[in-house]
Amino acid sequence: MKKKIGLFWLRDDFRFTQNYGLIEATENHDQVVVFYLFKKDIFKDQEAQKWWLSKSLFNFRKELNKLNITLEIIETNSFKIFFDNLLKKNDFKLYWNKVYEPDYLKFDKYLSNNLKNKNIIYKRFKGNTLNEIDEIKKNDGTPFKVFTPFWRTAEKYYIDKIPPKKKIIKKCKNKINYFQNSIEPEKILPKNNWFKNFEKIWTPNEESALKELQNFIKERIANYSEGRNYPNLPGTSKLSPFIKFGQLHVETIWRECVKKKIKTINTSKFLAEIGWREFNHSLINYFPYMLKNNYSKKFDKFPWEKNSKFLNAWKKGLTGYPIVDAGMRELYSTGWMHNRVRMIVGSFLVKHLLINWKEGEKYFKNCLLDYSPANNVAGWQWVAGCGADAAPYFRIFNPILQGEKFDKQGEYVKKWVPELRNLTKKFIHKPWELDDDKFKLGRDYPYPIVKHEEARLKALNAFKKI
Ligand SMILES: Cc1cc2nc3c(=O)[nH]c(=O)nc-3n(C[C@H](O)[C@H](O)[C@H](O)COP(=O)(O)OP(=O)(O)OC[C@H]3O[C@@H](n4cnc5c(N)ncnc54)[C@H](O)[C@@H]3O)c2cc1C
Repeated sequence: MKKKIGLFWLRDDFRFTQNYGLIEATENHDQVVVFYLFKKDIFKDQEAQKWWLSKSLFNFRKELNKLNITLEIIETNSFKIFFDNLLKKNDFKLYWNKVYEPDYLKFDKYLSNNLKNKNIIYKRFKGNTLNEIDEIKKNDGTPFKVFTPFWRTAEKYYIDKIPPKKKIIKKCKNKINYFQNSIEPEKILPKNNWFKNFEKIWTPNEESALKELQNFIKERIANYSEGRNYPNLPGTSKLSPFIKFGQLHVETIWRECVKKKIKTINTSKFLAEIGWREFNHSLINYFPYMLKNNYSKKFDKFPWEKNSKFLNAWKKGLTGYPIVDAGMRELYSTGWMHNRVRMIVGSFLVKHLLINWKEGEKYFKNCLLDYSPANNVAGWQWVAGCGADAAPYFRIFNPILQGEKFDKQGEYVKKWVPELRNLTKKFIHKPWELDDDKFKLGRDYPYPIVKHEEARLKALNAFKKI
């Protein structure tokens, strides 16, 4: 066994802790090569994530080097062609961790069958979830469609599990190159220079992920249930891009959160958000059609409107609704947006502007560093009312009241919409009511593109049609 090379197929697992496949490879082989397959068309509409990916590859390669492990990045148009070629050799054993998305799991089956046919030894490991997605089902064997009973069952199942023996990564004997034509991580960077700002905010590596987790547990988790609602406060963990790229395993989050004391309400609330992520991954695998279409079929007849002027104003943060504009500008500038504001801007797009949630999903996909098909599609369908266990369509967020409730002093708005920085608390969420020579609507800040009450009634009428 030792003579063969251990090949580890790196996907969303940029970490050493709880990287089951990579740990096993270093245990079984003196020589290990990690390879990343960069398939351009996957990242075609994920510009922001190209930055995170490129940095993650760069940083992870540095850490792997210290362990005598090479990281090779191979550009390919097709996983199938790549592996069909690779399987012509048999001087290796292959390892990888699961990615819980239908296309990846389908490809795993194809690959496993081919490896078996060629008598090549391979091992596939658990990916970045607490439970395997098919472990959590109702008593009658069908999938959960409602979050609360899902999470009650999933949490108990996880707690009752015997934790796997803790293993750590080993240093390899010597470093080798295995593939030809490995590219440099910089080649993946997006053409658009907009990522320059990301560099000031994020450090995409495991060390930073673990540090952020510890800071969050030390300083913010105790007030999470309340603090998570206010976008001007650092009330949430901001761990989402690290979780998406696997710099952090959710088992590590769980372990660190419950380490010191019995779970408090705040810790439970935080872990329940990890639960939503598990729920969403379960949903997209049981109902893969929802990745492209409405989970609830009755929405297939919804009278969405096409309006590129409105859509562009929304994307640019020029709708005339301060909290919406602040959120959209935060997204573009930082690659991240606060969850409360994701709900507000999402609701505004699908309800006030009557634009199909798929447009919002597509834009988020391109701009979010934490973009994940499961969370993004489920998040959008939750907002639009067409998802599983979703917010009912007729509950329409009022962007003025949402602003006044969750950004009371207007600090969040002032940060991202500086043209409103001189407005008082009274007008910050409704600048159209201000009568002041120094501030002119239409010149200093846009008129609202729709009137809230009219848009609300129009949305309710549209909903009646389905
Ligand atoms: C329209 C819309 C689109 C979204 N798109 C994405 C996306 O592409 N990727 C993504 O990771 N999240 C998405 N979310 C969920 C949520 O907004 C983010 O996970 C959260 O804001 C990330 O910030 P945080 O790490 O500080 O979260 P915290 O509050 O600290 O939560 C910890 C972790 O739990 C998970 N989580 C938190 N809230 C949710 C949720 N509502 N659903 C599923 N998982 C959750 C995330 O992994 C998060 O990092 C979306 C939500 C909406 C409403």
